[in-house]
Amino acid sequence: MSITLYNTLTRKKEPFTPIDPANVRMYVCGPTVYDFAHIGNARPVIVFDVLFRLLRHVYGEDHVKYVRNITDVDDKINDRAARDYPELPLNEAIRKVTESTAQQFHADVKALGCLEPTVEPRATDNIKEMVEIIQRLLNTDHAYIAAGAQGREVLFAVGSMPAYGALSNRKLDEQIEGARVALEAHKRNPADFVLWKESAATEPGWSAAFSEAGETVSIYGRPGWHIECSAMSHRYLGETFDIHGGGIDLVFPHHENEIAQSCCAFGTDVMANVWMHNGFLQVEGQKMSKSLGNFFTIFELLKLNAGAVMRFVMLETHYRTPLDWQASSIERAKFTLLNWSERLNDFGVVDHYLIPKPEFIDHRVVELLSDDLNTSSALMRLGELSHLGQTDLNLAKVFASTLGFVGFPQMDKPVFFQSGFIVNMFESGPQILPGSEENIQIENFRALTANNYIQQAQTMKLALEKKGIKTSIIPERYLYVGNETSAEFDKRVEKIIASRIEARKAKNFAESDRIRDELVAMRVQLKDGKDADGNLTTEWEVKR
Ligand code: AMP
Ligand code: ZN
Repeated sequence: MSITLYNTLTRKKEPFTPIDPANVRMYVCGPTVYDFAHIGNARPVIVFDVLFRLLRHVYGEDHVKYVRNITDVDDKINDRAARDYPELPLNEAIRKVTESTAQQFHADVKALGCLEPTVEPRATDNIKEMVEIIQRLLNTDHAYIAAGAQGREVLFAVGSMPAYGALSNRKLDEQIEGARVALEAHKRNPADFVLWKESAATEPGWSAAFSEAGETVSIYGRPGWHIECSAMSHRYLGETFDIHGGGIDLVFPHHENEIAQSCCAFGTDVMANVWMHNGFLQVEGQKMSKSLGNFFTIFELLKLNAGAVMRFVMLETHYRTPLDWQASSIERAKFTLLNWSERLNDFGVVDHYLIPKPEFIDHRVVELLSDDLNTSSALMRLGELSHLGQTDLNLAKVFASTLGFVGFPQMDKPVFFQSGFIVNMFESGPQILPGSEENIQIENFRALTANNYIQQAQTMKLALEKKGIKTSIIPERYLYVGNETSAEFDKRVEKIIASRIEARKAKNFAESDRIRDELVAMRVQLKDGKDADGNLTTEWEVKR
C-alpha cells in the first residue's frame, strides 16, 4: 500500500517514502498551554491522529514515532499566570497554569478519540538542547547577540541563509511586510527573529552562557518560540525526519524559522521531507472570535456531544480545505453515529470494535486515507459498510474494526448518540421542559459521561439530585431520568410484577389488568410466560 501526501514544500501530492520504514518519524506542533484549547486547535490534533493511525497500520505499530510537543514557556502563559494567581510567586503560578491546561488538553483530545503521541516533550524540559542549537548557530555566523529595547537577545540572521523563505515561498523583502516585523535598530535585518531573549529578574528564565567571537556572555533569559520545536524534534527524531505538521497559519513564520534554525545548525538541506498543513476552521461562515460570540472551546462542545460527533464533523471535510463548523453538521453527525452505533450492537460485533482486528480493517478505507487522507470518502465507505453488515457477518466485522481503526470512541454505546431520555417521575417531580436548565444539565451529564469527564459528570449528577432528579445510564441502552435511580425503579417494577403474578394466581384478572396498565404508563412492556415447572413468569423491559 503506498501513501500519497500533499507536501507544502513542493506544492504537490507525492508518494511518501520514509527515510527508514522501520522508524517512520513525524513531528506536529502542539499547544501552547495557557487556556482551554478551542475547536480550531482540535483540527490538527485529529487530522494528524488519523495519519498516525494510518502510518501505524501500514508500517507497523512499533515502527512509527509521533512527537507532539507542549509549549509551556511563552509570554502569554506568564500574563495568564500573573492574572489568575496574583498571590503566588510567578514560577509557581506558571506551573499551575501549564499543568491544569495540559491536563485539560489531554482529557479533551482523548475524548476526541486521539491516540497519545509516542513522545510528548515539554519545552521547559529541553532548554539545554535549545541553548546547544543556538550556540551552533552562533558558531557558524547564523546568529548574533544584540541589545534590544527589552534587553539582550540572540537573533537568527536570516540574511545568512540563501534558501530562507522556501517553504512559504516568500522573498525576504516581501516578508518584512507580511510579518509586520517592527523595524528594530538592533536587528541586522528586520526579519531576524529571536532565539533567546533576556528576562527581567521577576520573569521566568534560565541562565545560559553563549559565546560569540571568542567572548562568553551569560544571559538569564528564555527561548523564542521557534527554537523549541527545532530542539525537541532534533532530540527525538534526529536532524532530518519524515513528516512535519501543523495548521496552515504556522507555515510562516514558525515553520520557516524552524527550518532555518535546524538546517543551519546541522548543515542539512532539509529538516523534514514532507510538510503538511491543515486548513483553518471557521464557525458558521465567520472567523472564530470571542467578540463575535462564535468562539468555542473543545470542552464546551464536549459538554454537549460525545467526542465521536466532533471527530466525525472534522473528518467530513478534507484536511486542506477550510472547514466551516455548523450546528447543523453536528446534528447530522449525531444522527449518523446513532445509526452506526445501533447497528454495531445489532450485528453483535462489538468485540471487533473494542479491539479492532487489523485483518478486518477495510482495504478501501485504507486506500482512501492513503490518498492524502481522503477522510470524507472514508466516512462514506463506513456508511456503506454499515449497510452491508446487515446481510454479511464478515462485512459487519469489517465495519466494526474499521470504525475502531478510524478512531471513533464510544460507538458501542448508542445512549451517547441519542437525543432525549426516558423520564419516570411517578410523583410530583419537576417537569423537564425542552431547553430548560434541567434538560441541559441532563444532556451535560450524558456527554460528560461519554467523554470520560467522570468528576464533572458526577458534579452534574449531584446538582440534578438536589432538584430531585436522579439520572442513570443503563449500560449502552438508554438514559434514565426519574425521581429514583434506575436500580430503585427496577426494584419497584419487580415488586409490582410480583403483585400482578399473585393477582393472576388468585384469578383476580381485573386487578392484574389494572396493574398491567400501571406498568404500561411507566413504559414497562411485559411478556408473560411459564417456566419449566409451569409457574407463571413475567419478563419485562422498558420501551425506548
Ligand atoms: P496554537 O496553540 O495557537 O499555536 O495552535 C495550535 C495548533 O492549532 C496549530 O497547529 C495551529 O495551526 C492550529 N490552529 C489554531 N487555530 C486554528 C483554526 N482556527 N483552525 C485550524 N487550526 C488551527
Ligand atoms: Zn513548532
